[in-house]
Amino acid sequence: MLQPRQIKTLVKAATDYDFSTEVSFRSWIHVAATIRQQAEIYRAEGAYEEAYILFYRYADLLLNNLPQHPAAKGTKNSEAVRQLVNKNLDDVLGRLEQLKAILLEWIEADKRAEAERIKSERIKTERVSRPTVTPRRPVDDQTREAEYAQALASLASLKQGPVSTSSSQFTIPDVSYPSVPHVLTPLSPKSTGTPTAPIVPTTAKNTEHKITQYTENGTPLRTTFLPRSLQARFLDLAASNTVLNLETCGILCGKLNRNAFFITHLVIPAQTSTANTCTTQDEEVMFGYIDSLDLFILGWIHTHPTQSCFMSSVDLHTHSAYQIMLPEAIAVVCAPQHEPSVGVFRLTDPPGMDIIKECKEGAGGKFHLHEETGLYASAYNPGHVKLLDHIDVVTKDLR
Ligand SMILES: [Zn+2]
Ligand SMILES: [Zn+2]
Repeated sequence: MLQPRQIKTLVKAATDYDFSTEVSFRSWIHVAATIRQQAEIYRAEGAYEEAYILFYRYADLLLNNLPQHPAAKGTKNSEAVRQLVNKNLDDVLGRLEQLKAILLEWIEADKRAEAERIKSERIKTERVSRPTVTPRRPVDDQTREAEYAQALASLASLKQGPVSTSSSQFTIPDVSYPSVPHVLTPLSPKSTGTPTAPIVPTTAKNTEHKITQYTENGTPLRTTFLPRSLQARFLDLAASNTVLNLETCGILCGKLNRNAFFITHLVIPAQTSTANTCTTQDEEVMFGYIDSLDLFILGWIHTHPTQSCFMSSVDLHTHSAYQIMLPEAIAVVCAPQHEPSVGVFRLTDPPGMDIIKECKEGAGGKFHLHEETGLYASAYNPGHVKLLDHIDVVTKDLR
């Protein structure tokens, strides 16, 4: 049984992220939007602790970190931050207040349950010494069932309606928040009438995708579903470049659902390329498309027209920016002339992420040598990526 976390623990988790100025200002604006989107999804799914962490991180990013980005000094960008704050911050602070009230209630309920448990333990001990005394049941079964039904009803009402992150439609839904947590200790269908454990709040959700993979430092990695068809779709779009020995790159985008990511879109940005590099152009158009559909950037894919399937030093630096933005971000490399012809990778953490962030040789996209080994690892089999059959992706070619 998970114990509810203290608010200060959640705040610590919320501010524990790496605000790297290596990641472009526009990318951080996108990240801010996806953090808020994740928060809304977790809130709608009843994962209030996760929602609290993410809403708090959004506010922290907007108020404390984004204004410190070197590119935020420009008039256009500082105006962008100011607009975001004006437009969204009141709503987000309102969400935080609501969630805090619920979470404090959980913490209190947990304390009461613990006190109840200690009390019933004591009664049990007394019963052993005086077997004729019948212990008082800690919670009346009828009360328990009524509370359970109420919690289920509240949970159902929380799940109604679409989740919107667009501020123009952003209203606090008219729902009654559960006075007891959204998930309770399951009751056995037929009560035997004997004392059972008191109701204890839990954040466990039986409908979510369970975490099975972690980074080397223990950070959970949410399962990321990758349609098997994506590779062929990408190679088709890349074919005209590949025959000319030119690289092609694409951005993997998708959705978050019940604590797992689903890659649903393949975006080919405007780009310039050589035999072993590929640089995206016109970031604004690309982000405009991605943000208009509320998509998460879940990684990138690129070809090695003649080279084998590996992560070059430049690839590692490119990928570190994706992984700073989202720990689950993946790099897919397609090397059609070699076997294996495809690889799904992520930077190890540690040591990969720190070494690449510290490495100054990567600036300007120049190839260089890293002395260390083990900077990246497979993200699929083993890894947090799972392939999905019979699912197609939407492609958007912006070239
Ligand atoms: Zn490469
Ligand atoms: Zn480097």
